[in-house]
Amino acid sequence: MESVHIKIHGIVQGVGFRPFVHRLVREHGLAGSIRNTSSGVELELEGERAALEAFVRSLPERAPRLALIEQIETEYGLPPRGLTGFQILRSHAEEKRNTLVSPDIGICADCRRELLDPTDRRWRYPFINCTNCGPRFTIIRDLPYDRALTSMGRFPMCPDCEREYHDIENRRYHAQPDACPVCGPRVFFLDGEGREVPGDPIETARAWLKAGKILAVKGLGGVHLACLADRSELVRELRRRKERDEKPFALMCRDVQAAEKLCFVSGKERELLESFHKPIVLLRRRDRSPSPLTENGWLGVMLPYTPLHVLLFGEDLEALVMTSANLSDTPIVYRNEEALERLRGIADGFLLHDRDIQTRCDDSLCWERAGKEYFVRRSRGYVPFPVRVPGSRGGILACGAEQKASFCLSRGEYLFPSQHIGDLKNAETLEHYEQQIAHFERLFDTKPELLVCDRHPDYLSTAYALQRGEKEGIPVLQVQHHHAHMASCMADNGLSGPVIGLIWDGVGYGEDGSAWGGECLIGDYRSFRRFGSLRSIPLIGGDRAVKEISRVGFALLRDAGCDTRGVENAPFFEAMLQRGLNCPPSSGMGRLFDGAAAILGIREAVSYEGQGAVLLEAAAEADEAGVYPVSLSGSPLRFDWRDTVRAMVRERDAGVSTGCIAARFMNTLIEMAVETALAASRESGIRDVVLSGGSFQNQYLLNRLPAALERAGLRPRTHQRVSCNDEGLSLGQVMIAEATRRED
Ligand code: ZN
Ligand code: ZN
Ligand code: FE
Repeated sequence: MESVHIKIHGIVQGVGFRPFVHRLVREHGLAGSIRNTSSGVELELEGERAALEAFVRSLPERAPRLALIEQIETEYGLPPRGLTGFQILRSHAEEKRNTLVSPDIGICADCRRELLDPTDRRWRYPFINCTNCGPRFTIIRDLPYDRALTSMGRFPMCPDCEREYHDIENRRYHAQPDACPVCGPRVFFLDGEGREVPGDPIETARAWLKAGKILAVKGLGGVHLACLADRSELVRELRRRKERDEKPFALMCRDVQAAEKLCFVSGKERELLESFHKPIVLLRRRDRSPSPLTENGWLGVMLPYTPLHVLLFGEDLEALVMTSANLSDTPIVYRNEEALERLRGIADGFLLHDRDIQTRCDDSLCWERAGKEYFVRRSRGYVPFPVRVPGSRGGILACGAEQKASFCLSRGEYLFPSQHIGDLKNAETLEHYEQQIAHFERLFDTKPELLVCDRHPDYLSTAYALQRGEKEGIPVLQVQHHHAHMASCMADNGLSGPVIGLIWDGVGYGEDGSAWGGECLIGDYRSFRRFGSLRSIPLIGGDRAVKEISRVGFALLRDAGCDTRGVENAPFFEAMLQRGLNCPPSSGMGRLFDGAAAILGIREAVSYEGQGAVLLEAAAEADEAGVYPVSLSGSPLRFDWRDTVRAMVRERDAGVSTGCIAARFMNTLIEMAVETALAASRESGIRDVVLSGGSFQNQYLLNRLPAALERAGLRPRTHQRVSCNDEGLSLGQVMIAEATRRED
């Protein structure tokens, strides 16, 4: 007999780790104790050497799925103290300080089997869950994570559930949201007037859907609007009622087979769809013709992630539109009364239930890239899982950007990026943002001692940070937008720098007060310099040019000396440019894409930011290799797009296809990026290149640029855990603040 001390570092708290260890200790016939520490857990175990070693070996193999074991330290051969049994050592205050909160987890295979088993006591019970699945983040009001402090507090457990809860051999041991038809929440169906419809609510909902109705369906983090996906007229009607311009709708498919009828699904995409996170995965459509679901080549698809969804699909429904229930830019509807009031006239019926959602959380949206998520939106199923950065001191609140707002709170080595928040210019969204910051601070028991925000003077997140800093006497650090993007991608890849950053987006506030967005930076967390950029584009009418992209097209054509006579309102634009009236310069890559889309006649105006780039990418021919001349000069090294514009116009006028020119345009940007990065590398000796900013949602660029950089002898890195767009920026803000503070 001997004793071993084991330290496990990583994300091992609040993920069912201690009950797991408890079972494993019993399995191996050992005795001892476990306690949470600031960087993981510590174990003291006694037994035979062979059994102790077998235990340690099985830890990483059998750990709960949310756990992330980064390192196991062992010290064998210590004198035994004659321990018996197994003890979980805890102090209440410490628990609260150190515990992580689990994201919501999609229904597991075991629960799904029981749900569909007529002999199971939870047969067809839409709230079935267990330790391995079910709601978490969205039902938690406060810590410690305990039923009383969740939405389940008002549903006392029946004796059967109670027994399972206390049985360590049971899958529902310590499953706080566990319930059954005897003691748990119930589902109900209301008509368009809010009157309860008698009968089985789920069967009623299914019948209404099949009859072509649009329903509001309450999910985990909010309410969806649902209708049959294969009925174009219905989808158009939903779009009209929801006032949803042209943004694509997401689908929920019954299973992967149903998804495969509409999209190509690779093995890795399938894994992601079926993973317990259950994100919306962007899949390539089989049929590329225009559809009311989406205007581009991708369809966002997710699988049923709650038992309610599984029952809703039944055996016969295959694909439903499942779009967040909200109007234009307001946050997703999540309360029953709110749903009935605000979705009146939009939903024909309501499938709701009495388990309250405490925290709004939209569906996550990603592509599959190298077997992992490449996020557009990191939210339900992932938040509030932290990014761990060893050596961080914590106590920082980063306030993010504005249109794709998020924040990030750090506690010790854990950085907690928030869920998707939305556009802060909407008053309700701003309120949601402030509430969520307060919620995170309470959940993670952290009062920030340093606030970080963007340098943009008009961002509402900047105003929040400055006001709060003044009111509460907390210092505020303002960091440059593209520096934060770069730092975010560095942290995402565990780099400490220095790096070259290719940071491309629509707009960010530049050091000189102008709009940046086609940048090549060199730097680290502490500082950066602007090595390269774009020749600036005058935005005729300022923000109006972001929507009316023909204005950008005109500016590009005129600057390149091309014929502008075909452009509507050309004389007016010409006059504005000549007088320099409200024509702020921009070096935003998004603007260059908009201008190119306008020149190619793809669109004259867009209904959301980035649409020009989306449509240009959708139009491009995938196997076109041609490229236009790349002119780079000056310091910072500027890409002079005029040669490119002239070449595009020449080909357009010669009748070359839009798809071909669109591809060559992007090929040119790839070549420009490689040449710029190589020049930066020659000058600095750096080979790591991070790619960040919203333009890297473009899959044409993303699938070609890293390979091109590699061929040039550089080491490209793309995002892995947070989004490349402004939503992922808050992570970088925290990293810059940590580094700045350390230097002081
Ligand atoms: Zn389960
Ligand atoms: Zn029960
Ligand atoms: Fe940005």
